[in-house]
Amino acid sequence: MYTRETERNKTKMPSQRMTKSSCFDVVLLVVERNSENDDKYAPGCPRNQERCDDGPRNKQPVGPCWFCLSNVDAEKHLVVAIGTHCYAAMPKGPLTEDHVMVLSVGHIQSQVAAPVEVRDEIEKFKNAFTLMANKQGKALVTFERNFRTQHLQVQMVMVDKSSTKALKSSFTSAAACAGFELVTMGPDENLLDMVNEGCPYFVAELPDGSKLFTRNMKGFPLQFGREVLASTPILDCEDKVDWKSCVLAKEEETELVNKLKADFKPFDFTADDDSD
Ligand SMILES: [Zn+2]
Repeated sequence: MYTRETERNKTKMPSQRMTKSSCFDVVLLVVERNSENDDKYAPGCPRNQERCDDGPRNKQPVGPCWFCLSNVDAEKHLVVAIGTHCYAAMPKGPLTEDHVMVLSVGHIQSQVAAPVEVRDEIEKFKNAFTLMANKQGKALVTFERNFRTQHLQVQMVMVDKSSTKALKSSFTSAAACAGFELVTMGPDENLLDMVNEGCPYFVAELPDGSKLFTRNMKGFPLQFGREVLASTPILDCEDKVDWKSCVLAKEEETELVNKLKADFKPFDFTADDDSD
């Protein structure tokens, strides 16, 4: 059902010190490695601008993309739920025990590049995880960084309701420290009106429905979303800003994902439209 063109690349692994079982790690390492390279470019380097104009969207990556569901086999234990167009999975090095990310099943660059049915299903996941958060007395924050990434991924993190007051100022002051401004979009403002397809951007959605947005990616810290949420006023787990510092053993991951699946079950709309 989810077989894609990338399926045939499954056995073609890039050669450097990797096994199929560490594919999620590999993607993230690749992203990290890219980011290290990016840091060599001065802010305002034309390299950043080029990305607004870099040809067809959703083009297949050169190597296998390990976020495409057809390539997720080896890390299937991280998958929480599979919908028609999107799936939810626990990221490597989660910030909290209920940190999930929602990804497109097929290869799509970002929410802005995604067709309406994909964006609708991301909203469905968002609503379902919001209900799950509510049940636990928490609130849901989501963010997407479409910058130095190749596959759509929306992070969804539950925070204590008591910390939601501090969210907006935490995001905006962290942005100011990093030298860029986050614009507040109204609850009815659409991401698609803010940015052209193919342009890099960062967007966070707060529990009140407001969105904080920037497309100024000069010097943008790649861990920005994690950094803000891990800060003392929010989750207070600054040791987890870097996902690599909190990667769990496979057994722990499996245990957490099983708990996530059980907690998500009452809200899991994907069970209704299981066509298999
Ligand atoms: Zn992909």
